[in-house]
Amino acid sequence: SLELRNLTMAYGEIEVLRDVSLTVAPGTTTCIIGPSGSGKSTLLRGINRLHEPKTGDVLLAGDSILGTNPDTLRTRIGMVFQHFNLFPDHTAEENVALALWAVKGMPKAQAMAKARQRLAEVGLAERADHRPRDLSGGQQQRVAIARALAMEPEVMLFDEATSALDPELVKGVLNLMAGLGRRGMTMLVVTHEMGFARKVADQVVFMDEGEVVEAGTPTQLFDNPRSERLQRFLSEVL
Ligand code: ATP
Ligand code: MG
Repeated sequence: SLELRNLTMAYGEIEVLRDVSLTVAPGTTTCIIGPSGSGKSTLLRGINRLHEPKTGDVLLAGDSILGTNPDTLRTRIGMVFQHFNLFPDHTAEENVALALWAVKGMPKAQAMAKARQRLAEVGLAERADHRPRDLSGGQQQRVAIARALAMEPEVMLFDEATSALDPELVKGVLNLMAGLGRRGMTMLVVTHEMGFARKVADQVVFMDEGEVVEAGTPTQLFDNPRSERLQRFLSEVL
Protein backbone atom coordinates (compact mmCIF):
# COMPACT_ATOMS: atom_id res chain seq x y z
CA SER A 1 0.00 0.00 0.00
CA LEU A 2 0.89 3.62 -0.38
CA GLU A 3 -0.04 5.96 2.42
CA LEU A 4 0.29 9.73 2.70
CA ARG A 5 0.05 11.12 6.19
CA ASN A 6 -0.57 14.83 6.66
CA LEU A 7 1.70 15.73 3.79
CA THR A 8 2.55 19.40 3.50
CA MET A 9 4.75 20.68 0.70
CA ALA A 10 6.07 24.09 -0.27
CA TYR A 11 8.13 25.83 -2.91
CA GLY A 12 10.18 28.27 -0.90
CA GLU A 13 7.80 30.03 1.44
CA ILE A 14 4.69 29.16 -0.51
CA GLU A 15 2.74 26.15 0.69
CA VAL A 16 1.07 24.41 -2.21
CA LEU A 17 0.00 21.20 -0.45
CA ARG A 18 -1.58 21.26 2.99
CA ASP A 19 -2.11 18.32 5.27
CA VAL A 20 -2.91 15.77 2.60
CA SER A 21 -3.71 12.26 3.82
CA LEU A 22 -4.73 9.38 1.62
CA THR A 23 -4.27 5.64 1.30
CA VAL A 24 -3.98 3.57 -1.86
CA ALA A 25 -4.70 -0.03 -0.86
CA PRO A 26 -2.67 -2.81 -2.52
CA GLY A 27 -3.99 -3.73 -5.97
CA THR A 28 -6.29 -0.72 -6.19
CA THR A 29 -6.37 2.38 -8.36
CA THR A 30 -6.82 5.89 -7.01
CA CYS A 31 -7.45 8.75 -9.42
CA ILE A 32 -6.66 12.32 -8.42
CA ILE A 33 -8.70 15.02 -10.10
CA GLY A 34 -8.74 18.76 -9.61
CA PRO A 35 -8.13 22.10 -11.29
CA SER A 36 -4.82 23.27 -12.67
CA GLY A 37 -2.49 24.40 -9.90
CA SER A 38 -4.28 22.41 -7.19
CA GLY A 39 -1.09 20.51 -6.30
CA LYS A 40 -1.58 17.16 -8.03
CA SER A 41 1.87 16.99 -9.62
CA THR A 42 3.49 18.30 -6.46
CA LEU A 43 1.89 15.45 -4.53
CA LEU A 44 3.41 12.88 -6.90
CA ARG A 45 6.76 14.64 -6.70
CA GLY A 46 6.64 14.27 -2.94
CA ILE A 47 6.01 10.54 -3.19
CA ASN A 48 8.83 10.05 -5.66
CA ARG A 49 11.14 12.41 -3.78
CA LEU A 50 11.63 14.72 -6.71
CA HIS A 51 10.70 17.42 -4.18
CA GLU A 52 11.02 16.96 -0.44
CA PRO A 53 7.88 17.31 1.68
CA LYS A 54 7.99 19.95 4.38
CA THR A 55 6.13 17.89 6.97
CA GLY A 56 4.18 14.67 7.06
CA ASP A 57 5.11 11.21 5.92
CA VAL A 58 4.88 8.85 2.95
CA LEU A 59 4.65 5.13 3.72
CA LEU A 60 5.29 2.41 1.15
CA ALA A 61 4.29 -1.06 2.34
CA GLY A 62 4.20 0.39 5.85
CA ASP A 63 7.69 1.92 5.87
CA SER A 64 8.50 5.61 5.68
CA ILE A 65 10.28 6.44 2.44
CA LEU A 66 11.47 9.87 3.51
CA GLY A 67 15.18 9.69 4.14
CA THR A 68 15.61 6.60 1.94
CA ASN A 69 17.81 6.54 -1.13
CA PRO A 70 15.88 8.14 -4.04
CA ASP A 71 17.45 5.74 -6.57
CA THR A 72 16.30 2.69 -4.64
CA LEU A 73 12.92 4.28 -4.21
CA ARG A 74 12.53 4.80 -7.94
CA THR A 75 12.90 1.07 -8.53
CA ARG A 76 9.97 0.54 -6.15
CA ILE A 77 7.80 3.34 -7.50
CA GLY A 78 7.27 3.60 -11.26
CA MET A 79 6.46 7.02 -12.64
CA VAL A 80 5.00 8.00 -16.00
CA PHE A 81 4.80 11.67 -16.99
CA GLN A 82 2.92 13.69 -19.56
CA HIS A 83 6.12 14.01 -21.60
CA PHE A 84 7.67 10.67 -22.06
CA ASN A 85 11.28 11.63 -21.30
CA LEU A 86 12.67 8.87 -23.49
CA PHE A 87 16.31 8.99 -24.56
CA PRO A 88 16.08 10.13 -28.20
CA ASP A 89 19.23 8.36 -29.39
CA HIS A 90 18.25 4.97 -28.02
CA THR A 91 15.80 2.44 -29.41
CA ALA A 92 12.62 1.52 -27.56
CA GLU A 93 14.27 -1.64 -26.34
CA GLU A 94 17.36 0.22 -25.11
CA ASN A 95 15.20 2.79 -23.37
CA VAL A 96 13.50 0.03 -21.41
CA ALA A 97 16.69 -1.95 -20.80
CA LEU A 98 18.83 1.01 -19.69
CA ALA A 99 17.37 1.31 -16.22
CA LEU A 100 17.70 -2.43 -15.71
CA TRP A 101 21.39 -2.48 -16.28
CA ALA A 102 22.24 1.03 -15.13
CA VAL A 103 20.16 1.05 -11.95
CA LYS A 104 19.52 -2.59 -11.16
CA GLY A 105 22.85 -3.88 -12.43
CA MET A 106 21.29 -6.57 -14.59
CA PRO A 107 23.60 -8.05 -17.27
CA LYS A 108 23.02 -6.35 -20.60
CA ALA A 109 21.77 -9.40 -22.54
CA GLN A 110 19.29 -10.25 -19.83
CA ALA A 111 18.12 -6.64 -19.62
CA MET A 112 17.53 -6.54 -23.38
CA ALA A 113 15.56 -9.80 -23.27
CA LYS A 114 13.43 -8.49 -20.44
CA ALA A 115 12.91 -5.20 -22.27
CA ARG A 116 11.58 -7.07 -25.32
CA GLN A 117 9.20 -8.98 -23.13
CA ARG A 118 7.90 -5.79 -21.51
CA LEU A 119 7.50 -4.11 -24.88
CA ALA A 120 5.50 -7.10 -26.10
CA GLU A 121 3.23 -6.72 -23.08
CA VAL A 122 2.40 -3.15 -24.06
CA GLY A 123 1.83 -4.19 -27.69
CA LEU A 124 5.12 -2.94 -29.10
CA ALA A 125 7.02 -6.13 -29.92
CA GLU A 126 7.30 -5.00 -33.53
CA ARG A 127 8.66 -1.59 -32.61
CA ALA A 128 11.50 -2.58 -30.27
CA ASP A 129 14.19 -1.35 -32.67
CA HIS A 130 12.60 2.03 -33.38
CA ARG A 131 13.87 5.26 -31.94
CA PRO A 132 11.37 7.56 -30.18
CA ARG A 133 11.10 9.92 -33.18
CA ASP A 134 9.94 7.00 -35.31
CA LEU A 135 7.12 6.14 -32.92
CA SER A 136 3.74 7.82 -32.43
CA GLY A 137 3.09 9.72 -29.21
CA GLY A 138 0.94 6.86 -27.96
CA GLN A 139 3.67 4.34 -28.75
CA GLN A 140 6.28 6.50 -27.01
CA GLN A 141 4.09 6.66 -23.94
CA ARG A 142 3.72 2.88 -24.00
CA VAL A 143 7.52 2.59 -24.11
CA ALA A 144 7.67 4.84 -21.06
CA ILE A 145 5.13 2.63 -19.30
CA ALA A 146 7.07 -0.52 -20.28
CA ARG A 147 10.23 1.11 -18.91
CA ALA A 148 8.56 1.80 -15.57
CA LEU A 149 7.08 -1.71 -15.42
CA ALA A 150 10.43 -3.31 -16.17
CA MET A 151 11.60 -2.30 -12.71
CA GLU A 152 8.74 -4.37 -11.25
CA PRO A 153 7.56 -1.50 -9.09
CA GLU A 154 5.21 -1.92 -6.16
CA VAL A 155 3.28 1.20 -7.15
CA MET A 156 2.81 3.10 -10.40
CA LEU A 157 2.29 6.87 -10.48
CA PHE A 158 0.88 8.53 -13.58
CA ASP A 159 0.84 12.30 -14.11
CA GLU A 160 -1.45 13.28 -16.97
CA ALA A 161 -0.03 10.42 -19.00
CA THR A 162 -2.37 11.07 -21.93
CA SER A 163 -2.56 14.88 -21.91
CA ALA A 164 0.10 15.39 -24.55
CA LEU A 165 -1.33 12.79 -26.93
CA ASP A 166 -3.39 13.32 -30.05
CA PRO A 167 -7.02 12.44 -29.26
CA GLU A 168 -7.03 9.26 -31.34
CA LEU A 169 -4.06 7.89 -29.35
CA VAL A 170 -5.47 8.52 -25.89
CA LYS A 171 -7.71 5.49 -25.74
CA GLY A 172 -4.96 2.92 -26.36
CA VAL A 173 -2.88 4.25 -23.48
CA LEU A 174 -5.89 4.47 -21.15
CA ASN A 175 -6.81 0.88 -22.02
CA LEU A 176 -3.28 -0.21 -21.21
CA MET A 177 -3.48 1.54 -17.84
CA ALA A 178 -6.90 0.01 -17.11
CA GLY A 179 -5.45 -3.42 -17.91
CA LEU A 180 -2.63 -2.88 -15.42
CA GLY A 181 -5.22 -2.03 -12.79
CA ARG A 182 -7.21 -5.17 -13.54
CA ARG A 183 -4.07 -7.25 -13.19
CA GLY A 184 -3.60 -5.94 -9.67
CA MET A 185 -1.09 -3.11 -10.04
CA THR A 186 -1.37 -0.49 -7.29
CA MET A 187 -1.80 2.83 -9.07
CA LEU A 188 -2.08 6.51 -8.27
CA VAL A 189 -3.27 8.31 -11.39
CA VAL A 190 -3.52 12.07 -11.88
CA THR A 191 -5.87 12.53 -14.78
CA HIS A 192 -8.19 14.87 -16.62
CA GLU A 193 -9.97 11.86 -18.11
CA MET A 194 -13.15 11.74 -16.04
CA GLY A 195 -14.47 8.73 -17.96
CA PHE A 196 -11.35 6.79 -17.01
CA ALA A 197 -11.62 7.86 -13.36
CA ARG A 198 -15.26 6.84 -13.22
CA LYS A 199 -14.70 3.48 -14.84
CA VAL A 200 -11.32 2.36 -13.50
CA ALA A 201 -10.80 4.01 -10.12
CA ASP A 202 -11.56 2.27 -6.86
CA GLN A 203 -11.14 5.64 -5.19
CA VAL A 204 -11.33 9.18 -6.55
CA VAL A 205 -9.68 12.10 -4.76
CA PHE A 206 -10.65 15.68 -5.58
CA MET A 207 -8.01 18.28 -4.79
CA ASP A 208 -8.34 22.03 -4.83
CA GLU A 209 -5.88 24.69 -3.66
CA GLY A 210 -3.50 22.15 -2.17
CA GLU A 211 -6.09 20.27 -0.16
CA VAL A 212 -8.07 17.08 -0.47
CA VAL A 213 -11.61 18.36 -0.62
CA GLU A 214 -13.41 15.05 -1.16
CA ALA A 215 -12.43 11.40 -1.51
CA GLY A 216 -14.61 8.38 -2.14
CA THR A 217 -15.89 5.99 -4.78
CA PRO A 218 -16.49 7.24 -8.32
CA THR A 219 -20.23 7.09 -7.66
CA GLN A 220 -19.88 9.24 -4.55
CA LEU A 221 -17.79 11.89 -6.23
CA PHE A 222 -19.30 12.02 -9.70
CA ASP A 223 -22.96 11.37 -8.89
CA ASN A 224 -23.21 12.85 -5.41
CA PRO A 225 -20.57 15.57 -5.06
CA ARG A 226 -21.07 17.18 -1.69
CA SER A 227 -18.85 20.25 -1.78
CA GLU A 228 -19.64 23.30 -3.82
CA ARG A 229 -16.04 23.27 -5.11
CA LEU A 230 -16.36 19.78 -6.60
CA GLN A 231 -19.78 20.56 -8.03
CA ARG A 232 -18.33 23.60 -9.76
CA PHE A 233 -15.29 21.65 -11.02
CA LEU A 234 -17.48 18.88 -12.46
CA SER A 235 -19.79 21.36 -14.13
CA GLU A 236 -16.72 22.82 -15.87
CA VAL A 237 -15.08 19.57 -17.02
CA LEU A 238 -17.98 17.21 -17.73
P1 ATP B 1 -1.85 21.01 -13.51
O1 ATP B 1 -3.22 20.36 -13.57
O2 ATP B 1 -1.83 22.30 -14.28
O3 ATP B 1 -0.74 20.09 -13.88
P2 ATP B 1 -1.21 20.63 -10.69
O4 ATP B 1 -2.45 20.32 -9.90
O5 ATP B 1 -0.36 19.49 -11.08
O6 ATP B 1 -1.64 21.50 -11.97
P3 ATP B 1 1.15 21.66 -9.40
O7 ATP B 1 2.02 21.58 -10.59
O8 ATP B 1 1.36 20.65 -8.34
O9 ATP B 1 -0.39 21.68 -9.82
O10 ATP B 1 1.32 23.11 -8.80
C1 ATP B 1 0.77 23.48 -7.54
C2 ATP B 1 1.17 24.91 -7.24
O11 ATP B 1 2.58 24.96 -7.05
C3 ATP B 1 0.87 25.90 -8.35
O12 ATP B 1 0.44 27.09 -7.77
C4 ATP B 1 2.19 26.07 -9.05
O13 ATP B 1 2.27 27.35 -9.63
C5 ATP B 1 3.18 25.89 -7.94
N1 ATP B 1 4.46 25.31 -8.42
C6 ATP B 1 4.60 24.16 -9.09
N2 ATP B 1 5.90 23.88 -9.34
C7 ATP B 1 6.60 24.91 -8.79
C8 ATP B 1 7.99 25.23 -8.70
N3 ATP B 1 8.93 24.42 -9.22
N4 ATP B 1 8.32 26.37 -8.07
C9 ATP B 1 7.39 27.18 -7.54
N5 ATP B 1 6.07 26.94 -7.58
C10 ATP B 1 5.67 25.82 -8.20
MG1 MG C 1 0.31 18.78 -12.90
